[in-house]
Amino acid sequence: MHSALRIIKEGLTGNKGWKPAWRKPDPRTQYDVIIIGGGGHGLATAYYLAKEHGITNIAVLEKGWLGGGNIGRNTTIIRSNYLLPGNQPFYELSMKLWEGLEQDFNYNAMISQRGVLNLFHSDGQRDAFVRRGNAMRLSGADAQILDAAAIRDICPYLDYDNARFPIKGGIRQPRGGTVRHDAVAWGYARAADRRGVDIIENCEVTGFIMENGHCLGVETTRGTIRAAKTAACVAGSSSKVMAMAGQRLPIESHVLQAFVSEGLKPIIPGVITFGAGHFYVSQSDKGGLVFGGDIDGYNSYAQRGNLPVLHDVCEGGMAIMPMIGRARVLRMWGGIMDMSMDGSPFIDKTQTDGLFFNGGWCYGGFKATPASGFCYAHLIATGRPHEVAQNYRLDRFLGGAAIDEKGQGAQPNLH
Ligand SMILES: Cc1cc2nc3c(=O)[nH]c(=O)nc-3n(C[C@H](O)[C@H](O)[C@H](O)COP(=O)(O)OP(=O)(O)OC[C@H]3O[C@@H](n4cnc5c(N)ncnc54)[C@H](O)[C@@H]3O)c2cc1C
Repeated sequence: MHSALRIIKEGLTGNKGWKPAWRKPDPRTQYDVIIIGGGGHGLATAYYLAKEHGITNIAVLEKGWLGGGNIGRNTTIIRSNYLLPGNQPFYELSMKLWEGLEQDFNYNAMISQRGVLNLFHSDGQRDAFVRRGNAMRLSGADAQILDAAAIRDICPYLDYDNARFPIKGGIRQPRGGTVRHDAVAWGYARAADRRGVDIIENCEVTGFIMENGHCLGVETTRGTIRAAKTAACVAGSSSKVMAMAGQRLPIESHVLQAFVSEGLKPIIPGVITFGAGHFYVSQSDKGGLVFGGDIDGYNSYAQRGNLPVLHDVCEGGMAIMPMIGRARVLRMWGGIMDMSMDGSPFIDKTQTDGLFFNGGWCYGGFKATPASGFCYAHLIATGRPHEVAQNYRLDRFLGGAAIDEKGQGAQPNLH
């Protein structure tokens, strides 16, 4: 982080003394590890490879600019409120890494543990949430069950009396919250760069170098680059990139949109989610309501959405919080989600020696960024899965070991 004295000095001298946060090196022809994709997960992987395993001869290849993918498009929510044993310890590790991240990579990511509140609207849903809360507490996470009166104290403006789906209570994770998403990319990038990692922007991977079942590197728009280990980490582009390596994934790509209102006085205490439809909202430090809902529901690689989903999301908002109808939407955008068949991700080796895969994050991969990088780095460096990520195997559907957190079955557009 910058010292207060330095900020004052630069402010008085026209801000001419700042250096770029990371270098812009030309790609070399050989590295120990190539990471494809300079999103949050790719940068975190490079950082933990360098920090935890001493591997620094790494290239992170990004086809656009850092922060241009989902790391800079998400609604910034972090939480570890998972139910299944295949997921909960992984997301709790991520939460613990978030809690020390700013000190660790020495960058202000505006981590704000203001709480995540999931509303429930029926007795059956309360039972399911109590079960989830117990699973969370068993794995060391925090969870509280609140009744309607307790929620009325925190959020008096929700619709308690006339709603189609009356609010009966909620499950709250006080340690959940929000993080400034692009600062996470910048923080990991700066810290990885300082440990010697080459971050190469405007460098698209266009093919893989394969020989006798081994991956020996990649072809890019900036030339051929070789490495003993190549690790794909391209989120919404997973199917396209891995198809170049001859691999078919249990993943579909769908658009997810986010919306921001005009700035309002502080009103939303943390993150609130609607339990009878798909709507969630938080409030940024600038005052904008940041909200979203379902994916668009058809396969697409376009980073933009459409109006029917906007209507659907706003209907969800009106159903629990009618006052939101008076706020004006300022901005909306879309990102490409790598939706897996069971809603859970993959961190695994592939059938090709030297080629690793990380993806299938659906719309929940931002909160996973630290643990994803940590566990992927562990796999790449040691050849063995990290214990909290050992279920994220690419072949799990063959043996019926799906990690179906929502119980929706093999239906990516429902996860
Ligand atoms: C609207 C929206 C809201 C969301 N809200 C949340 C939330 O609140 N909480 C949460 O936990 N998650 C959320 N997510 C999901 C989360 O953002 C993603 O799961 C996560 O960011 C994906 O990992 P990443 O950061 O590495 O992806 P990205 O930032 O997309 O990184 C992948 C990178 O790979 C690059 N790439 C692709 N192809 C190539 C190639 N051929 N060569 C080189 N580079 C390539 C891309 O340019 C991109 O920069 C949201 C997503 C969206 C779109």
